Amino acid sequence: MTLAELETLERRYAIPTYARSPVQFVRGEGVKLWDEHGHEYLDFLAGISVLNVGHCHPRVVAAIREQAAKLTHVSNLYYTEPAMRLSAALSESSLGGKVFLCNSGAEANEAAIKLARRHRPGGEIVVLHDAFHGRTYGALSATPQESKQAPFAPLVPGFVACEKDPDALRAAVTPRTAAVLLEPIQGEAGVLPLSAELLAAARDACDDAGAALIFDEVQTGMGRTGTLWAYEQTGVVPDALTSAKALGGGLPIGALVTGERLADTLRPGDHGSTFAGGPVACAAALVALEICSDEALLAHVARAGERLMAALSELPFVASVRGRGLLVGAELKGGVSAVDLARRALVEARLVLNATGPSSLRLEPPLIVTEEQVDEAVARLARLA
Ligand SMILES: *Cc1c(COP(=O)(O)O)cnc(C)c1O
Repeated sequence: MTLAELETLERRYAIPTYARSPVQFVRGEGVKLWDEHGHEYLDFLAGISVLNVGHCHPRVVAAIREQAAKLTHVSNLYYTEPAMRLSAALSESSLGGKVFLCNSGAEANEAAIKLARRHRPGGEIVVLHDAFHGRTYGALSATPQESKQAPFAPLVPGFVACEKDPDALRAAVTPRTAAVLLEPIQGEAGVLPLSAELLAAARDACDDAGAALIFDEVQTGMGRTGTLWAYEQTGVVPDALTSAKALGGGLPIGALVTGERLADTLRPGDHGSTFAGGPVACAAALVALEICSDEALLAHVARAGERLMAALSELPFVASVRGRGLLVGAELKGGVSAVDLARRALVEARLVLNATGPSSLRLEPPLIVTEEQVDEAVARLARLA
């Protein structure tokens, strides 16, 4: 179908929740995407940090094919090998406790919120300004952004929004606090890393109050920042973390991973989901997790990220850059519209990235991006000046 035909169908049949860009993608491989005319694009968004292993990674494709031909679904009333193997791999790769599998980032945070409430019945969940934890009601209630929350009030009670300040956080965490939920680097807010002081204060305050510290690593995990999990670089170990986005190598899957202390907090019957831990998504995730755990790849992510940030900061319209590894935000100089620039990058330069605000761009290419592709992407941006 042509793009015009798709737009016609969208106008008539798709509930208009998305402002799509006028491009139809039909194929992807590694860091590249192709539209229906055969035009090639460099993908520096990776499906919003989903294709960390690159588009159609041959090992992921093979795992999906093999599992899809064998067994696609039986529900959690029975055992399947991919779900248990993935649970083991996720636990062993991080906090060492137990895993609840689900289907998305929002769902992973819903599970985390229920875990927190089981940990401290009736307790409050402290979240940070600018946070993004998802669009379902619990996750939305944990996302203190007026524009996203206000139309859908009343929200789930018991969420407390706190400034990103160590003293404010210490004051917000009390014996009534069930959990502090935070992103170590706030992705949707524009790639805003939290300070080491803030994370240390969160850890201390949770320890003092007996609250759970939960990291939302939906965007920062799976090697995105140069370590498999971003918490590894913070000096702070959370009591639980959530993962999704890149976990499935392109397929939808999410996970709540606990440390040992909270491993048996949720009990039989407390939570569940029909599709959770489905064999095909888990088979893909097992491969994606193994690829993203590779030390050589993670070292490459750190190097490529530094190269990308250095090159971006040289651009005449960039005021500052921030981020870690290949999770990068660029703040544009006054008057330059990030939305405009992202649209021009797509249409004129065939470079895929996105705007996280009126003046900030976000770049998060597949982790396998080469240094040449990093240079090429920045060169394409430079031509838009
Ligand atoms: C994307 C994202 C979510 C929501 O994930 P979905 O799969 O879209 O529900 C939650 N938290 C963070 C940090 C995210 O980046």
